[in-house]
Amino acid sequence: MKAKQLFANDAVPNEEQMERYYAGSIILQKKALAYACMKNQLEIIWTRTIPTAATDGAYIYINPDFFLSLDNDEQRAFLLGHEVGHVCLRHMDRAMHYDGRGFHSMRGDIQVPWIPQLWNVKADEIINADLIACGLQMIPKGMLNAKVNRNSQLDEIYADAALEKQQDDRPKEKQGGESGDGSSEDPQGDEQSTDTSGTPDDQDDQSSQDGPEADESDEEGQGSGADDSEEPELSDHGGFDDHLTPVYEGDDDQQELDREDDQMQIDQAVQDAIEQANSMAKRLGMRAGTGSGVFGRAVADRKEREHVIDWREELAEFITSRTGGGENSWKHIHRRRYAMYGSLNPTPMGLLSSMNLIEDRSGSAHHLHDLFMGELACLVDTLQPVDGVRVLFVDTEVLDTAVVHTGEELLDLEAPAGGGTCMAPALDRIDEEGWDDADVTLCFTDGELFDDDMQRLVDRDTLIVLDRKPDTYFVGPLLEKTGARYIVVQP
Ligand SMILES: [Zn+2]
Repeated sequence: MKAKQLFANDAVPNEEQMERYYAGSIILQKKALAYACMKNQLEIIWTRTIPTAATDGAYIYINPDFFLSLDNDEQRAFLLGHEVGHVCLRHMDRAMHYDGRGFHSMRGDIQVPWIPQLWNVKADEIINADLIACGLQMIPKGMLNAKVNRNSQLDEIYADAALEKQQDDRPKEKQGGESGDGSSEDPQGDEQSTDTSGTPDDQDDQSSQDGPEADESDEEGQGSGADDSEEPELSDHGGFDDHLTPVYEGDDDQQELDREDDQMQIDQAVQDAIEQANSMAKRLGMRAGTGSGVFGRAVADRKEREHVIDWREELAEFITSRTGGGENSWKHIHRRRYAMYGSLNPTPMGLLSSMNLIEDRSGSAHHLHDLFMGELACLVDTLQPVDGVRVLFVDTEVLDTAVVHTGEELLDLEAPAGGGTCMAPALDRIDEEGWDDADVTLCFTDGELFDDDMQRLVDRDTLIVLDRKPDTYFVGPLLEKTGARYIVVQP
């Protein structure tokens, strides 16, 4: 792993105590085979720096005193499985991403807030549900939720819970009751999050530890705190473990590369664990259960992630493949750097003469539009089209046009609002202006075009850039019928 090992492995149990670790590992292997296979590929660090157990998504840290204090080996197996589950599902890396972005996601035009503590609670609920489904005995204080099951998708249940919490918090703010004990207002309490040692409607530990409002602005535990201090930043989300932020060293590019390296290594480890578990299960006549739960989700997440990366790759590939030849100096690290920090060292190409961008202004998702334009701006700066980018804003007619030469100019354009969709006038205008000499034509749209409109775009070798996944009843069939080449912009 390229991530920095946060604590020294300086509290390794003695041989006799280590027996308990082996016993727990054997139970894990019997009941949750894939977890055991995955665990064997990870490094376990014994340390007293953290109070119980933790992971940063790269290493598993265990306090031997806590480990040995657990009731039995079943619970020790549960603990091992729990930390492994976080690594498989990349919970810590994802949290770091949202932390950097400052919000979680967009639901339509609504921004889902980023509440690290809530993310940690939901992450635990999914893993615990899966381990229980595997037949393991949960550790007291483990978080569970009746609405969450082993196949739940964390981003979905997190977004639901975060929006619900935001809703719940609003009237409270108006009433000004923020300094009370708040015991009836804890968000997880409302969601039936329980621990095994309490009654079902017991408030979880979070409210008693942090007070009712603490989690709202609490960035602890998932902050970017890459300092060298030995003091761990604990997530303190109320479960039995801590969720730490991975730390990467070196300059920004290096950190990004190392992070990607680690994620690839984890993807590979998950894949290996699944294959190993499946073949062992076959040999031993047992069920591997790798198609669902944490491992099923890990595979589905990876596929989804690859698809998300795809649209950027495809956009770059589409554009560079239509330049005048020569080598493609496009490096993904530059692209990411631009997206994250808004700067890069352009590599002049001079091979692209010009580009046409048709923008459907019939009303698209703003954040995806911005995401696409950021990506395109980066490409413009890298490829430096000699005659620039001709931008055409269109609804049922051409609303406005502009010619820009740099990414910055492109991003500075004011896009007029429009309604209705017909792209044909844009193509007519391109002909009128003599812009039909462009190497590349892109059309950013929601895809809800008339058949012949789409066909005209396709005939002009236009890359259709969709701001949403094509639906299966209209846009999808239209793309197929016209043979359109398209990409879907996704965050
Ligand atoms: Zn956890």
